Amino acid sequence: MCTVARSGDADVAAAVAAARLAQPAWAARTPVERGQLVRELALALQARREELADVVAEETGKSRELALGEADAAIEMGLFVAGEGRRLYGRTTTSAMPNRTVMATRRPVGVAALIVSFNTPLPNYAWKVFPAVFCGNAAVLKPSEHTPLSASLFGELCQEFLPPGVLNVVHGLGGDVGPPLVEHSDVELVSFTGSASTGQWINEHAGRRLAKVVLELGGKNALVVCDDADLERAVEWSLASAFSNAGQRCAAASRLIVFDAVYGAFRERFIDGAREYETGPLISEESLRRILGLLEGSNVIVGGGRLDRPGWWLAPTVVEDVAADADLSRTELFGPVAILYRVRNLDEAIALVNDSPYGLTSAIHTASLHRGLRFADEVEAGVVVVNGGTHGSEPHMGFGGVKQSGTGWREAGVEVLDVYTEWKYVNLISDPALT
Ligand code: NAD
Repeated sequence: MCTVARSGDADVAAAVAAARLAQPAWAARTPVERGQLVRELALALQARREELADVVAEETGKSRELALGEADAAIEMGLFVAGEGRRLYGRTTTSAMPNRTVMATRRPVGVAALIVSFNTPLPNYAWKVFPAVFCGNAAVLKPSEHTPLSASLFGELCQEFLPPGVLNVVHGLGGDVGPPLVEHSDVELVSFTGSASTGQWINEHAGRRLAKVVLELGGKNALVVCDDADLERAVEWSLASAFSNAGQRCAAASRLIVFDAVYGAFRERFIDGAREYETGPLISEESLRRILGLLEGSNVIVGGGRLDRPGWWLAPTVVEDVAADADLSRTELFGPVAILYRVRNLDEAIALVNDSPYGLTSAIHTASLHRGLRFADEVEAGVVVVNGGTHGSEPHMGFGGVKQSGTGWREAGVEVLDVYTEWKYVNLISDPALT
């Protein structure tokens, strides 16, 4: 049990004002110094990883092992970002005019609102807070109402290393605290990770005042199994991709597209695996009810029901005979539900992968280099994996999607610097008499 403030307009105003006040002095520090502070923060996180993982396991219901893995991912992101302190490269370029030196440098954006989902709380905070503050911004973090304690502890840890006001945390329901934050005229950047519907609302409202808006949204990710795949590996990766973290991953494989020739063999093994898969609970009763509602009337071949355990458990679920244009095929469920589709060849598989409003991650299992490369070339997705799961991102790799999975930005990787900085072109004319 934990109790936090249900923040509202006044708390948002205070948090943004604190950030506004702190930002110029923070930006005036060197990137090397800010990088060192982020490194210290990451190391402090490492020292408390078990305690933080316990809290995450408690507030989400996921296994301690999974929560520890997520804590490590958050730490790695901090260490990666800290290293940028000794880089944060700019550029120089040529000019048509003599005696002119042109250089491009990165500048902080200002005050950033960082709004995140519940699904992997620590990496979600780390992916936004570390690069945002490293780049010289001050920030207001709005965690999910489902994971307030991990956010409070993360905020407290940051307070030990960062000057007051550089990172502020506001709690509360998205509908209460989100709008005043998104619409605040002093917030120059809104960086959001969550559902497409909330993202649309944010884009519209922050867009009206022309703020910089960065959206990392959902997925309906596909994993293709070809007739030349290593079937055992393909089944293992499909199970992990569909059901780990109870399918509450933006990168979860919820569409399994299998070649006719191996459909029967794959189906049998996948169903056996699904029956035994130890997943975790969903985040809320509301989420469970929503998914059960969407499954109604469909051909469920395994699972499909609530498990009799404390919390909101949905048995790993496998569905068949769903049309590509059915709601179930196009809606992100964010739960442990995989739909099986049967195709005749790679052309059909690629067409089906792309027949989706989303385009976040994708995977193919094949022994053919040609098929792997063709798939990588033709699928509409921000991440492609050949012979693995529908994830595989690491802190130094840009992550994000196309279509309704995002607005074109990439988080993590050096690409994240484009989110949290603005380019400034500086023209130096060494001899004014010669211009
Ligand atoms: P959500 O959209 O319901 O909530 C996300 C956050 O937005 C929460 O903190 C919530 O309180 C807040 N919020 C709600 N209404 C708001 C408003 N009007 N203004 C501002 N903030 C508001 O999403 P969720 O259920 O927490 O997360 C699941 C979604 O997140 C899935 O769609 C998943 O795919 C996506 N996700 C994407 C990525 C990625 O990197 N692309 C990563 C993780 C999760």
